[in-house]
Amino acid sequence: MPETSTEEFRAELREWLGRHLSPDLAPERLASLDDASRVERLRRWQAEMAAGRWVGITWPEQWGGRGATIPQQIAYLEEMSAAGAPTAVGSLGIGILGPPLIAYGNDEQKRRFARRVLTGEDLWCFGFSEPGAGSDLASLRTSAVREGDDFVVNGQKVWTTLAHHADWCMLLARTDPSKPRAKGVSCLLVDMRSPGVSVRPLRQMTGEADFNEVFFENVRVPRENLLGDLDGGWAIATSALQNERGILYVVEMQIQLKQARDRLIELARERGASTDPLRRQQAARLWIEAEVFGLTCRRTLDKLLRMGMPGPEASIIKLHWTDVTQGMPEFGMSLLGCEGLLYDTPGPDTGRARAEEAMQRGFLQARAASIASGTSEIMRGIIAMQVLGLPRG
Ligand SMILES: Cc1cc2nc3c(=O)[nH]c(=O)nc-3n(C[C@H](O)[C@H](O)[C@H](O)COP(=O)(O)OP(=O)(O)OC[C@H]3O[C@@H](n4cnc5c(N)ncnc54)[C@H](O)[C@@H]3O)c2cc1C
Repeated sequence: MPETSTEEFRAELREWLGRHLSPDLAPERLASLDDASRVERLRRWQAEMAAGRWVGITWPEQWGGRGATIPQQIAYLEEMSAAGAPTAVGSLGIGILGPPLIAYGNDEQKRRFARRVLTGEDLWCFGFSEPGAGSDLASLRTSAVREGDDFVVNGQKVWTTLAHHADWCMLLARTDPSKPRAKGVSCLLVDMRSPGVSVRPLRQMTGEADFNEVFFENVRVPRENLLGDLDGGWAIATSALQNERGILYVVEMQIQLKQARDRLIELARERGASTDPLRRQQAARLWIEAEVFGLTCRRTLDKLLRMGMPGPEASIIKLHWTDVTQGMPEFGMSLLGCEGLLYDTPGPDTGRARAEEAMQRGFLQARAASIASGTSEIMRGIIAMQVLGLPRG
């Protein structure tokens, strides 16, 4: 089959979005729905995208993807963002579970799970972090003990994004406590409706509850739900986390930051910052930082195009993104002054200006940036040792 050029790919997607993206998918319309209705609407949108083969575009064609090239992936995100199209609600399953499922799963597992990941029939969450194992994930204690044809799982996970809506969990558990740390860990695919699984949402300071504590009490997981080899879960987790920090992530961060910057500059103008020399300086500094961030992304993308994998330099991007992503709403809040304290949990229209609410919500949400996908301290450690070649402290 002849290869589709990036421009043909872009045009095809633009045309498809023009026909399928309905007004009720606009961010403000979605924000006015309650949590369950929003997820339900987004599941239907994902099913529609899957029917057009516009989800999992990096997956091989055999499993429902398009085997998209890196320029096509960039075009995809640019077009989706320009159209204001919501991303797939099952993006964790598509982006983080999908590649290891295809690489390590047996044919039966791929047939059973892959299509349903793309259509959004199954939403996935990731049970990696535990109360005593976050940055040091290899110290995890959740156990999975063989009993007949099952594993019996006991333990607790935390910060599990989407677990309250998820149908399945990609779980890391210790299957051999006699082996050192990462060596005795396996990856299990756990049905969230299994007896003994309980989910407790954690409310964030935005008022929303996106992630959860998940408890496993004598949960029986059939042996056929072991992904990859017994005690071979670490390689799978590592590849899953690399996908989390992969190319789409880089491009997405760049797009999000540009949008946030444009909103901020608009707010700064409205609030008279252009006549205040101090505020003008602050706005200019943030604008420049966002530009520099874009250039750093371009350099990483160039490397990806040439070598296929992001290097440890990806940590520079994560760290820089965190700084800019936190700095912008901080400035935005200083523009709002006391009004910045009037935050309401998103929901039905509160009568306040949307741009201001978005700024306040962004300010609260941005705190997570220095923790999620590797904390800033861990990023600094990687840069010090693997990029600068400094000795371990
Ligand atoms: C928005 C969000 C979504 C998340 N979603 C998920 C999810 O779906 N599934 C999941 O499993 N997890 C998820 N997490 C958890 C995330 O992976 C962990 O929070 C992260 O790995 C940090 O672990 P921790 O919270 O246990 O902090 P810790 O690792 O305990 O760190 C505490 C502090 O110590 C510092 N520190 C730790 N080790 C070092 C070191 N070696 N050198 C220097 N400083 C160090 C850290 O930087 C941090 O400041 C999510 C987190 C966030 C914020």
